[in-house]
Amino acid sequence: KDFRNNVKPNWCPGCGDFSVQAAMQRAAANVGLEPENLAVISGIGCSGRISGYINSYGFHGIHGRSLPIAQGVKMANRDLTVIASGGDGDGYAIGMGHTIHAIRRNIDITYIVMDNQIYGLTKGQTSPRSAVGFKTKSTPMGSIEESISPMKMALTVGATFVAQSFSTDLKDLTALIEAGINHKGFSLINVFSPCVTYNKVNTYDWFKENLTKLSDIEGYDPSNREDAMQTLMKHNGLVTGLIYQNTERKSYQELVTGYSEGPLSKADLDLDQNYFDKLVSEFI
Ligand code: SF4
Repeated sequence: KDFRNNVKPNWCPGCGDFSVQAAMQRAAANVGLEPENLAVISGIGCSGRISGYINSYGFHGIHGRSLPIAQGVKMANRDLTVIASGGDGDGYAIGMGHTIHAIRRNIDITYIVMDNQIYGLTKGQTSPRSAVGFKTKSTPMGSIEESISPMKMALTVGATFVAQSFSTDLKDLTALIEAGINHKGFSLINVFSPCVTYNKVNTYDWFKENLTKLSDIEGYDPSNREDAMQTLMKHNGLVTGLIYQNTERKSYQELVTGYSEGPLSKADLDLDQNYFDKLVSEFI
């Protein structure tokens, strides 16, 4: 199935987000989805534009709010595969509260964060993923704040699927997105996606020199949460691959009682008109 549409992305040439878009399109096709079975919900930022560049249902939300919208979509129509996406500023700053609660809720959606360690759309300010000492227009003398580790955060709040990739590793990234879609629960995939225009530190070459593939670590076991945490600490978070997966825990949808078997969007709600009128009148 073709998840490409005829909208030309207006990302800068060389932006890492192009590969993430391609990986999402390939993964959706590889798991056998039809465009009408997929909803891509995004936040604000350069990466937030991605919902308009994929042939599927799409919703470009407001800053940091892709996850509340995505969760609403999934609860209203569990037949849809839902992917939420955005940048590190979107998901780990203004949207961090939603990220944590969606993770611990374990609702069955895939969240792809394009992590470029900077705010690109607003022309280059320090983000929650920028390292100490990182100089931008907002921190001309260098950032004095520690950066957030999203993978450690996710493990701490009860994530059942935690993965990380690099935008040039198209094959690995595609496979991780497929695994995230197939996972029955919340999957967080953090993708190092370089901003070639404003981040001159965390470049493609920098990542190539500093990243370690988990597949190169002998005996690494993604079902072992303690091992995952130790490995993240040892490598300062700079690992790629499936970091942790728990297939035992049930998803939010499986646990909600009285939840319609079919999509709520197609259910006959059998509304009592008097009750409905009374309800509405309270808001008038
Ligand atoms: Fe990509 Fe940076 Fe350009 Fe935004 S400003 S499109 S993140 S390269």
